[in-house]
Amino acid sequence: MPRPITATVHLAAMRHNLERARACAPGSKAWAVVKANAYGHGLERALRGFAAADGLALIEFDNAVRLRELGWSKPVLLLEGWFDAADLATMARHDLNGAAHCMEQIALLEDYCARTPPARPFNVHLKMNTGMNRLGFKPEQFGAAFARLRAIAHVGEITLMTHFANADEAHHPCVSLHEQLRRFDEGTAGLPGPRSVANSAGVFQMPGMGEALVSDWIRPGIMLYGGTPGGRTAADYGLRPAMTLASTLIGVQDIKAGDFVGYGSRFEAEGAMRIGVVACGYADGYPRHAPTGTPILVDGVRTRTVGRVSMDMLAVDLTPVPQARVGSRVVLWGEGLPIDDVATAAGTIGYELMCAVAPRVPVLED
Ligand SMILES: *Cc1c(COP(=O)(O)O)cnc(C)c1O
Repeated sequence: MPRPITATVHLAAMRHNLERARACAPGSKAWAVVKANAYGHGLERALRGFAAADGLALIEFDNAVRLRELGWSKPVLLLEGWFDAADLATMARHDLNGAAHCMEQIALLEDYCARTPPARPFNVHLKMNTGMNRLGFKPEQFGAAFARLRAIAHVGEITLMTHFANADEAHHPCVSLHEQLRRFDEGTAGLPGPRSVANSAGVFQMPGMGEALVSDWIRPGIMLYGGTPGGRTAADYGLRPAMTLASTLIGVQDIKAGDFVGYGSRFEAEGAMRIGVVACGYADGYPRHAPTGTPILVDGVRTRTVGRVSMDMLAVDLTPVPQARVGSRVVLWGEGLPIDDVATAAGTIGYELMCAVAPRVPVLED
């Protein structure tokens, strides 16, 4: 028998969450973001779960090609664009769109098109840095970048793109959504082309902001997998978890006051209690830094982890589940236990937990 841990991916939840994104942005086309192996859910499953998306967006060239091999014929967008000339050849061959965020990329594209005129034009997302200071042209450089790109005969549609730093908190004191939009409007003034501005957090701001936040394309990621981008909880946003990480108890220990649990003896029992041992550890992707008290479900009852997470196991407090025994079902996150609750307890975000599910965990579908 295989080890009892499994990750079940819920395709119906993925479809539902995409509908939620569309409902927030009825006039927009939607890129479903499937980078990092679809946030750990599997590229091929994402292709089916998001079949209704207008395009799929990701970072990795091998997976972009894989989408074409799997039969995806709608647009594909590389969110960090191309890294060298070989990438441009791949984009030409497989009809992939790419983001351009620096002059070095535009120079590579000029060079490539001069040497190897492509059969189809390249569609490019031109990215502006409106305050995140990660990728993109400054607003005052944007017009020049646009002109240089437009001058390349083999460039087709240019989409105007930016990325929000704090869309989960529209009035962020450092860089507000409104300020980023103001810079974007300033930098794109007079430039033609569709706009692509909203990640999940931005998508959730759209209904409340009306004309102040319009985007021809939206780029939801985390919300499609049922995680919150911040602000409110996933349930408040009407999202459903797209993954349930589950396992079982493989051991039970009765301990008494003064006994310790796990490596480093970091948990000490205050009184007699039962401890369950779960077949799930950090080598499965569960965060090692999750402290005593991290929520977990045993037989559907919410309880807490105790002691250090080890490579293949972790321990839980069975006090609220006296009927639990070897074989009892444990949910690490997903249906019945929001991944964000676990992430918060562990000092991280749902994104990181999803992406970290290890290759040794068998993935099922329902
Ligand atoms: C990852 C990513 C997104 C999706 O972000 P979420 O917060 O997961 O919705 C959108 N746009 C770009 C450029 C990204 O890199």
